[in-house]
Amino acid sequence: MSQADPIIRIKNLHRVYHLGGEDIHAVRDVSLDIHPGQMTAIVGRSGSGKTTLLNLIAGLDDPTEGEIWIEGQRLADLDPVARLALRRDRIGFVFQSFGLLPLLSAEENVGVPLRMRRLSRRDRQQAVKNALDWVGLNERAHHRPYELSGGEQQRVALARALAAHPHFILADEPTGQLDSQTGKKILALLRRFVSEQAITVVIVTHDPQVMEEADVVHELRDGHLIDTRLKNPAANGGTVNAR
Ligand code: ADP
Ligand code: MG
Repeated sequence: MSQADPIIRIKNLHRVYHLGGEDIHAVRDVSLDIHPGQMTAIVGRSGSGKTTLLNLIAGLDDPTEGEIWIEGQRLADLDPVARLALRRDRIGFVFQSFGLLPLLSAEENVGVPLRMRRLSRRDRQQAVKNALDWVGLNERAHHRPYELSGGEQQRVALARALAAHPHFILADEPTGQLDSQTGKKILALLRRFVSEQAITVVIVTHDPQVMEEADVVHELRDGHLIDTRLKNPAANGGTVNAR
């Protein structure tokens, strides 16, 4: 795949939930490309379909209609085992609520996804240490989540994503539970994922800070993609890939 190819391609995507005899169109005919080496924000109010879209990209849910390609591979062609491998080997997840296991220390949390891989104990420990160093939390390695601030917990979550060397990170409201100063620091760290680790970052959010920081902003309203704004023309050769 060449540099210019999208890492994620979404075409005419629909997701309709059937709930108590009612049809809820969470995602309606969304088409967009996400390019490597960029920070992409998908923004919209609560209920606009952001989390639904992220789950579809992650292969955690199936579209009612439409297609998704991940690094040129059609998601619909992957069986459950291949989807699991995709999530394990190529996608890092970051959540609003951090998603840390409460009884595990920071370093144990970072090591969790690595346990699904064939790594020696020593290599695993080294990867964990490197990731915690990179987010500036090595001195908190033995703390449990409740002994950490919200910003620190989110940094542990970022270290956990980083340690597994994903191709891209899907972040659902990563600053949603943080004050704006702390949110800014988390965004700066996500920016360094893009610039220093060559990891593509996709953030769904309604936080205006994220919209300012992102290279590309796609806006959803009631499941529709209503706007695509390019913030940093240098980042993808100056082309907008709207629908
Ligand atoms: P956002 O993340 O932007 O807040 P969501 O993707 O969570 O939006 O939800 C989009 C719409 O789909 C909302 O109207 C929500 O109530 C509905 N929805 C989300 N998940 C489900 C589900 N599992 N079953 C039924 N409706 C759902
Ligand atoms: Mg959501």
